[in-house]
Amino acid sequence: MNIYADNAATTKMSDAAAEIMTQYNKEYYGNASSLYTLGQKAKEKLEEARCIIAGIINAEPSEIIFTSGGSESDNQALLSASENGKKNGKMHIISSAFEHHAILHTLKKLEKNGFEVTLLPVHENGIIHPDEIDAAIREDTCLVTIMTANNEIGTIQPIKEIGEICKNRGVPFHTDAVQAIGHQLIDVKEQNIDMLSASAHKFHGPKGVGFLYVKKGIRISNLIEGGAQERGKRAGTENLPGIMAMAVALKESADNMETANAHKSEIRDYIIKGLSEIPHSALNGDARMRLSGNVNFSFEGIEGESLLILLDMKGISCSSGSACTSGSLDPSHVLLAIGRIHDVAHGSLRLSLGEEITLEEADYIISAVKEVVEYLRGISPVWRDLVSGKREFIL
Ligand SMILES: *Cc1c(COP(=O)(O)O)cnc(C)c1O
Repeated sequence: MNIYADNAATTKMSDAAAEIMTQYNKEYYGNASSLYTLGQKAKEKLEEARCIIAGIINAEPSEIIFTSGGSESDNQALLSASENGKKNGKMHIISSAFEHHAILHTLKKLEKNGFEVTLLPVHENGIIHPDEIDAAIREDTCLVTIMTANNEIGTIQPIKEIGEICKNRGVPFHTDAVQAIGHQLIDVKEQNIDMLSASAHKFHGPKGVGFLYVKKGIRISNLIEGGAQERGKRAGTENLPGIMAMAVALKESADNMETANAHKSEIRDYIIKGLSEIPHSALNGDARMRLSGNVNFSFEGIEGESLLILLDMKGISCSSGSACTSGSLDPSHVLLAIGRIHDVAHGSLRLSLGEEITLEEADYIISAVKEVVEYLRGISPVWRDLVSGKREFIL
């Protein structure tokens, strides 16, 4: 059996997105900045894609800037807010300890440039309390940036409430919605969002294309200098085939969202129930306020990396921690942020399901994980110490 259960790392492109991308590469290859008909046709299609995307998140087309993906959007949002803040003598930023590295590493850079960053702690269930944001806001706060849904444990944040607090306190609010968009309803007006990052390859669109929503009135700084594309805010010839494929994929995901979520959450809960039977294990993140496809478990006494490799040999693609951190020996910063100790965080597994997942596959996953965990514990010196009482069980 071959099961792809790593949709939080990336998704397979949908047929419709792949087809339109090929078609656009062949038919609309003109440069959208060229004045002849072929160029102007490309320009028209570019604006059509912008309208589709804006409509889905309840934004104006002029509020969408196309980028190369989630990381670029996050970088541009933070750079813009910090430059705006600096002009007004406001150099304090609020974020959380479990953001994506595209946010955390950019914040580190801003700290080196004199900004002060408050990283709010995350509670054990992986959800931020809006009143803690309220308490952290200061006179000199120029930005609050909190992700909509976490990429490792899938927990969904109270974005509307956080946005409302920021609005009342007059502080711009950015959200990294890369994991949420296409999978959760997003309405930038209703949710009081000033800036939002998105990436096509997380909702069955192509890799290397995304967008940044910026509410009218917020000044945007350039990350990439050059031509006057994207109203001078993002230079570089537009990737029209990728952008149109992103619009098609987002429309498809939005249309299909309810059915997909109902199905995925049913299978998710079935897998959670099955894996909970493994002794000394625990679900990471809130059981209900989580993405419909996310299962994240810690198993005491094992190494997540070995688990991942053995599951791969059984045909299951999944991840331990996030794709960006696996390969390094540090345990996931997200699991540490919700209070898991190093050893426990090391023995963790993330399954992120796609909508084509079946009950039969879920059964296969459950029995494969049970078997592999048992095998790894059998050869683990840590497990031996736990069982003999030399070490204490935590889970
Ligand atoms: C994947 C991801 C990103 C990065 O997006 P890219 O398009 O791969 O640059 C940023 N934030 C979150 C939450 C993500 O899951």
